[in-house]
Amino acid sequence: MLLAASIADLIWPTAQVCRQPLEIKMTTVTRHAQISCPACGHKKVELMPTDACQWFYECEGCHAVLNPLPGDCCVYCSFGNVKCPPIQMGEACCGG
Ligand SMILES: [Zn+2]
Repeated sequence: MLLAASIADLIWPTAQVCRQPLEIKMTTVTRHAQISCPACGHKKVELMPTDACQWFYECEGCHAVLNPLPGDCCVYCSFGNVKCPPIQMGEACCGG
């Protein structure tokens, strides 16, 4: 009985094949964000990194160093006019 059961297991594997979703997200990601300084209102368009989160941004106008607001992953999510690329792609940003 045990032998028959193992042969059956070999023919019909009980383990499910885990398929990785092969969807390639072709949605265009905006890499440029206009960041607005909350201190002086200075605006500048910056190129966002797609593989990293920017935690610090120094304003060119008043040289204030901006940090992300609580709940945001990077300065672009907090002060930019678009979210950062990982968020645009629907992914969690940097494990956050
Ligand atoms: Zn500023």
